[in-house]
Amino acid sequence: MRDAAPPRRGPSDEPERGHPGRPDDSAPPEGVRKKDRAPPDPSAIDTSRRPFVLVWEVTQACDLACDHCRADARPERHPDELSTEEGKRLLDEARSFGDGQLVVLSGGDPLARSDLLELIEYGTDRGLRMTLTPSGTNSLTPDVVADLADAGIERLALSIDGASAEAHDDFRGESGSFAQTVAAARAAREAGVPLQINTTVCAATVDELEGIRDLVADLGAVLWSVFFLVPVGRGRVLDPVSPERAEETMAWLSAVSESAPFGVKTTEAPHYRRVAIQRKRDASDAPGDDGIGRRLGITAGDGFAFVSHTGDIYPSGFLPRSAGNVRSDSLVERYRESDLFRSLRDPDALRGKCGACEFRHICGGSRSRAFAHTGDPLGSDPLCAYVPDGYDGAMPSGRAEAD
Ligand code: SF4
Repeated sequence: MRDAAPPRRGPSDEPERGHPGRPDDSAPPEGVRKKDRAPPDPSAIDTSRRPFVLVWEVTQACDLACDHCRADARPERHPDELSTEEGKRLLDEARSFGDGQLVVLSGGDPLARSDLLELIEYGTDRGLRMTLTPSGTNSLTPDVVADLADAGIERLALSIDGASAEAHDDFRGESGSFAQTVAAARAAREAGVPLQINTTVCAATVDELEGIRDLVADLGAVLWSVFFLVPVGRGRVLDPVSPERAEETMAWLSAVSESAPFGVKTTEAPHYRRVAIQRKRDASDAPGDDGIGRRLGITAGDGFAFVSHTGDIYPSGFLPRSAGNVRSDSLVERYRESDLFRSLRDPDALRGKCGACEFRHICGGSRSRAFAHTGDPLGSDPLCAYVPDGYDGAMPSGRAEAD
């Protein structure tokens, strides 16, 4: 069995492609906080030293009660959330990863924190690229979006999980959420803030994807981030798509990415890279073209890190195994040196079907989903339909008792 070549590392969970004419670095309107740094060159980043993406879950408070919520969000803020000063220390340390570190402020709903603008300004002034994933609620008014832009926010990511108000609001558990999200998306464009749309793929949403694709284009988003459900938090009650449906969906997304006026990336679905490679191999006339040369991607602990609302350092928000806490440990040291993060960056440490797979260096499976289903972050990803040639070991199935 031939091993696939190691990937060239890139800026997103999966390849971002197909967004001509929609640059992320559109000039901000007059009065918006100046951001004079260029994003780091993705090909120059060593993901064993720094993450492309550092997510800080600033709060778990949120007015919505979405069926799929990873954070088990609740209306009130947790009394042990990182304070403003602790948050600033975290941002100071994020800066020491290197120039232009990307920081995503997530939740819950980050707007539940009264110091949000202060934190965005603090990070922006220190050269961090600050982005935000607010909830689609009536708190996200055009004035608030303008304030976020003034504070220096570089991208706003909004969730749309249905192509119609009925489908989206039903999934989100809140009437009016679709209209509020669409209004906020248009306000982001007005304010000159690049827009990202996030969509969850599960049995309840997969038939909405074509309509959502059209909406993403209509809203002028720069990126569509498609998240394949991992059963953590309230997401445990949702049904995932089957591995076969996931395979079809990834092939469809790969085709969409080639013509859409926005980038496409997947989250918690690194086998999208394998599907894209196989599509390219099938289409290639070039003898010996293995289609592998332009792989981009990050996975939990390898180009990606997550800090919880109480400071725990996780490889991903969907892989809640702690490597330390920012209140007592160095985030940079834990990212680079902890056994957990180091093992997640070693494709040869994988077990089961993923460990036997020739695509493990460019895919490796979702470590979060493997953990959620088996309790082993190095186990096999049960969403993948691929079976390596000659593999006759155990097939991944079931859900962990201890997750
Ligand atoms: S078996 Fe694992 S490593 Fe191989 S393509 Fe599937 S998820 Fe990726």
